[in-house]
Amino acid sequence: MVSITLFGGAGEIGGNKVLIEDKKTKVFLDFGQAFGLLDEYFVDWLQPRGRFGLKDYFALGLMPKIPGLYNHEAVKCTDLKHTAPEYDAVFISHAHQDHVAHLAFLEQEIPIYMGEACKKILDSTQHTTGMSVYSEDGWEKRDGTKIPPNKIKTFRSGEKIKVGGLEITPIHVDHSVPGAYGFLVETSEGTIAYTGDLRKHGNKPEMTMDFINSAIEAEPEALIIEGTRVAEVESRKNHTEQFVHSESGRVVKESKGMVLAMRYPKDLDRFRTFYTIAKESGRKLVISLKTAHLLLSLKGDRIGLPNPLEDENIEIYGRKMIIYKAWELPLLDHCVNSEWVMKNQKAIIWELDFSQMQELIDIEPVAHSACIHSMSEPFEEDPSSQLQDEVLQNWLTRFGMERHQLHASGHASMQEIFEFVEEIDAKKLIPIHTQNPQMFKGKDAIVAEKGKKITL
Ligand SMILES: [Zn+2]
Repeated sequence: MVSITLFGGAGEIGGNKVLIEDKKTKVFLDFGQAFGLLDEYFVDWLQPRGRFGLKDYFALGLMPKIPGLYNHEAVKCTDLKHTAPEYDAVFISHAHQDHVAHLAFLEQEIPIYMGEACKKILDSTQHTTGMSVYSEDGWEKRDGTKIPPNKIKTFRSGEKIKVGGLEITPIHVDHSVPGAYGFLVETSEGTIAYTGDLRKHGNKPEMTMDFINSAIEAEPEALIIEGTRVAEVESRKNHTEQFVHSESGRVVKESKGMVLAMRYPKDLDRFRTFYTIAKESGRKLVISLKTAHLLLSLKGDRIGLPNPLEDENIEIYGRKMIIYKAWELPLLDHCVNSEWVMKNQKAIIWELDFSQMQELIDIEPVAHSACIHSMSEPFEEDPSSQLQDEVLQNWLTRFGMERHQLHASGHASMQEIFEFVEEIDAKKLIPIHTQNPQMFKGKDAIVAEKGKKITL
């Protein structure tokens, strides 16, 4: 008997944790945290106590109590006993938090499969943010003993990977982070297709179509498909990456002052868009140390991003009077400072992070400077995103900077998602990563319940 269980991503955006069971083989697709998972009990500085592992999560019913899945540290303060692993593998579709965040709780013996670029991005994020996604070199416990490193295995698009009775084929898709994949899982009762997150309006729509076409060919028994933008009222704008490029290019060309560009840290398509605009307009792109580290981590990868230490169109910004971390030290010789930015402000595009708006005080932007906000607009349902947006606006008003909202979503539109559903024409349809699974019509659309088995 083959079954699919959603332990996350059922009726919520993100948090995908899809368990596929085929006789004795048990594999998870993604292991993330939903954006709203903690909202009910936690806010700002009130957060689960990391030192107690999963204790707070279990006590508040935020994570499933599953034997043979979590590592010793994760369960040692809970009533769940640490037992031998009962799961064969976890496959990661891409490096976004809502697909990977809970890997740190996973038993080390269970291998984690991901794309090569995905691993490089996660490794860089771990280095530069101090956030542990998984154990890379092993972890030292409080008592000084070591936890062994996770077993990470990387794959390429089209590679067939056998795990127990399953054969899993990752196929690249276009999403707002490089190294993103969907999966075709061949079971003893037919194929299950899983989209991960995807879109058709980025720079590489042909990658998404490779996945869709392979899924059509596989005539799947079940399709697990994302539906982020499936909603009665669509709050995200339907812009393409090309539109963001041309409009941002126009803003930069018309601006007589400095241009700020704000984007999501892992959105390297957007980085490339701003990098190209900088080149086209004869400006330099000023990036953060974190971005420099990420680009260097991906050096030599097929994605083909520029080397920030050698590229004449790129400068790295170093803040003053901070205590630099070990990973920052080797980059400091290559940095420009606030005086340089102030002097050259009319000839740059500056990727400034929201958490570092204070730097504007040192720069004193000249009149007619602009800000391209290249991220989602604040969501009505999310008061903290609205508050943050107000604060951003106050900074821009204070320094007389004109704001331009230009963003292309990482997710396919509702209409495109419904077209994919029709084209793939699977026998069973399981929406995931959506607040509106009930809006998926058609034969056998299943509104999955968290933790409840769906048999093929
Ligand atoms: Zn994503």
